[in-house]
Amino acid sequence: MLSVTADSNSEQEPGLAALFALLSTSIPGIPEGLHYPRQLRRIAGVAGVPIEPEYDLDAYLADLRKRLYGADAGDAAGEGESADAEREDEGAAAAQWGMLCPSPVEADVEPVADLRDGLAAALAEPDGARRAEMLNEMSRQYGLFPAVDDEGRPRVLPTRVDVVSCLAAVLVPAAMLLAPAERRERMRTCADLECGTLFLDRTHSARRRYCSAKCTSRASTRRHRERRAGTATEGRGLGPG
Ligand SMILES: [Zn+2]
Repeated sequence: MLSVTADSNSEQEPGLAALFALLSTSIPGIPEGLHYPRQLRRIAGVAGVPIEPEYDLDAYLADLRKRLYGADAGDAAGEGESADAEREDEGAAAAQWGMLCPSPVEADVEPVADLRDGLAAALAEPDGARRAEMLNEMSRQYGLFPAVDDEGRPRVLPTRVDVVSCLAAVLVPAAMLLAPAERRERMRTCADLECGTLFLDRTHSARRRYCSAKCTSRASTRRHRERRAGTATEGRGLGPG
């Protein structure tokens, strides 16, 4: 039987994938887990939140190369084009969203960690009424309001345009999608200990153990290696010693 082999989180809508990416930064036994503005940028990227470009050393060097060796310098020209295309994409996304999220800095990390902890606590709350209250309170706290974009699609937007509010506008509604118990029961942590990514098990059997095809194949490679190592040990055991 053909089962789902693609990345389960990439099949999910971006908000849910971003929510899981954020919640996965909190690994039991490892305090915090969220340290760098770059992590916030990655989550915003997963969420599809248009974000100000960061200072990019590679882009700076490519630009420098272009100026030193001329615009036809192979690599530099290619990078320039893709950077332009990226900027255009960002522009389109920003127009659709009606705003551009500021580039994350150190000071944004703690508020986003608080957002993560709030979302995790709400999703872990067994009482439905209390869970709803917690999520609704987060909506108020981050000043989220229902909106519509220029193509008539419904959005949730933040009142304040700072990093945590921009992320909350996507992540709080995503957490609300998980409010029904039957969906939360399908939240899993990837069985690969090095991965630990959260995902939503959408398989019919509800027995999915790994977040992605990559983790599934890594685990089977490891099992294979362990079996071979086991055989080798037994082999040695048969010899003198
Ligand atoms: Zn995984």
